[in-house]
Amino acid sequence: MRDVLVTENIAGLEMEVLKNTFDVVFEPDLWKSPDRLREMISDFQSIIVRNQTKVTRDLLAAAPMLKVIGRAGAGLDNIDIEAATEAGVVVVYAPEQNSISVAELTIGMMLSLARKIVTADHNTKSGEWKRQGFTGNELYGKTLGIVGLGRIGYRTAVRAKAFGMDIIAHDEYANPDAVMVSELRARMMHLDELLSHSDFVSCHLPLTSSTIGLFDYEKFCTMKPTAFFINTSRGEVVDEEALTKALKDKKIAGAALDVRQQEPPVKGPLSEMDNVILTPHIGAFTEEAQERVVSSVCRDVADILSGKEAKNYFNFSKPKHICQKGGKI
Ligand code: NAD
Repeated sequence: MRDVLVTENIAGLEMEVLKNTFDVVFEPDLWKSPDRLREMISDFQSIIVRNQTKVTRDLLAAAPMLKVIGRAGAGLDNIDIEAATEAGVVVVYAPEQNSISVAELTIGMMLSLARKIVTADHNTKSGEWKRQGFTGNELYGKTLGIVGLGRIGYRTAVRAKAFGMDIIAHDEYANPDAVMVSELRARMMHLDELLSHSDFVSCHLPLTSSTIGLFDYEKFCTMKPTAFFINTSRGEVVDEEALTKALKDKKIAGAALDVRQQEPPVKGPLSEMDNVILTPHIGAFTEEAQERVVSSVCRDVADILSGKEAKNYFNFSKPKHICQKGGKI
């Protein structure tokens, strides 16, 4: 029986500690070969992944020794939680260790859209000095609509308040009397109402059956023609064809996407638009967030393998079925 299988590029101080303490197999490209992964996993007690490895029911069926899945990040949409729970396997993750980084990227995108920073940079580097073409807008006094007032949505709103923005929010499950809502002086409302009132709409929803494709053409048409749309959550929440049409039809003023319907995406019309900013799913990619995420997940995996309880678990803190010889009981 082997200890830890790492299927994506996950590095940091605590990973080194894990490697010194346990038998760790580091295969950063294994996520690209699901068949090979299926063969290899049969011997392992734990697997550590980011968001590229698909931990499916089928994969779990091939992993009789598995005690713990470590997800180095917040979103769990690449892991079949139901299947893992049924199999008694603990899922540990890093629910908020990267929230500040994603919130800061969101604010950066809002500023870049409002002040046309990316296009002004390209233009100036090409030898031009076209100041008038780059008159933008202030964030001050504008309304930010947060869709999904969770860990990242809240932190984005806190930072936006410092710019003098008004916060409105839509969240199906948030308690409208929660202290964070009062603290933000946020008005909670239905999605369509939020879309029609916002100067910036920032999406922070999880990917679920009810959020997939939520932002369709109709939703973009509900927004102000001067408004900007930002998505740093999950690409599949947005119908990109609808977004492209909305931008072409001038239903909205611009968009910034860190996450895409297909990753990596094929080059399409969004890449040609000056009022669109595209980044390659880097929301959590800061030194600070990565250190926190990797430390937290590696410690939890180490604790489970040592018979202790995990801290950041999603389903339960210890494996439901501890395997002795020959697999689960
Ligand atoms: P969270 O669970 O803390 O917050 C999500 C909020 O959405 C919750 O408050 C929940 O009540 C609300 N919600 C859920 N379903 C809803 C629905 N159908 N309608 C309205 N509200 C709904 O999550 P988080 O940690 O803030 O993460 C937000 C998103 O950001 C997730 O999709 C996550 O995967 C993504 N993320 C992206 C990056 C990146 O690199 N870009 C990094 C980390 C997280």
